[in-house]
Amino acid sequence: MTDDSIGAFRDELIDSGLVIDAGVEGLYGRTLAYEEIVSGIIALTTRTGAGDGAMAVHFPPLIPRWLLERTDYLKSFPDLTGSVHTFGGDDKRHARLLALVDGGHDWVEVLEPAEVVLRPAACHPVYPLCTGGPLPTQGRRFEVQGWCFRHEPSADPARMLCFRMHEFVYVGDPDGAGAHSELWLKRGAEMFESMGLDVDVVVANDPFFGRAGKFLAANQLDDALKLEFVSPVSSTETRTAIGSVNRHQDHFGLTFGIESADGEVAHSACFAVGVDRTALALLKRHGLDPGRWPAEVRARLWP
Ligand code: AMP
Ligand code: ZN
Repeated sequence: MTDDSIGAFRDELIDSGLVIDAGVEGLYGRTLAYEEIVSGIIALTTRTGAGDGAMAVHFPPLIPRWLLERTDYLKSFPDLTGSVHTFGGDDKRHARLLALVDGGHDWVEVLEPAEVVLRPAACHPVYPLCTGGPLPTQGRRFEVQGWCFRHEPSADPARMLCFRMHEFVYVGDPDGAGAHSELWLKRGAEMFESMGLDVDVVVANDPFFGRAGKFLAANQLDDALKLEFVSPVSSTETRTAIGSVNRHQDHFGLTFGIESADGEVAHSACFAVGVDRTALALLKRHGLDPGRWPAEVRARLWP
């Protein structure tokens, strides 16, 4: 994949009026035509998981700072983290802020960290809901979707600062987590293929930070804890993850103190659709005018 082809797709998306350059690399506005694709993907994902008894929940794109600490995100992905800062000063400090802005200087030093940070994955807010006693025998299931932030600015339109994820999460015992992963590997592939996308399932690893991160990545690969649905997105020559199945083993169970029905540390697993990447994959595959997509694809997205 050359930078040229990635850049060309970005230009095509913007020229077509689907996506708007929001002023900094990796940040985009979306027009209604694009949002209709997103709505179709979200509705199809919901229909695919209907009947499993998942509790559908929405959370804002912000999470408490304590939640980011508990998930170990700072240990594994400090470079992707986004923090919120606010102004809490007096008139004097306000004058300093304005003077810095007027002078074209860095003014962030006048701000203070807020009690919230940006949410890096849709599923993180559901784990604290599972504490306070053993889970039911069948475990708990959640459907959760919304905006996520990862600080990975890029010229590749598929690598955004802010994007939507739609997840189905299971929290319970190890067998249940295994079954959830197996089920969604099959269902996820079928769902992406039903939109006319060409997907492969590959064993993958997260971009863990630093020297210690190399070991974490190697372990994740060895144990096949992360599987990705990869498809052409920005280029037809390489494939990008449009979704994933993640087996967390007892990671969230341990950090949040979640107990399975038999009193053991709970295991969890999630299936995540990268909603915006899936929208781009569809635009790459079927062209930039959704009105001219194949009838069967349109019927899947907008029945
Ligand atoms: P992950 O938790 O890393 O498996 O992410 C779930 C899905 O979110 C991925 O398979 C991607 O489709 C999507 N995703 C992750 N990072 C980004 C990004 N920077 N821009 C757009 N989509 C992303
Ligand atoms: Zn998740």
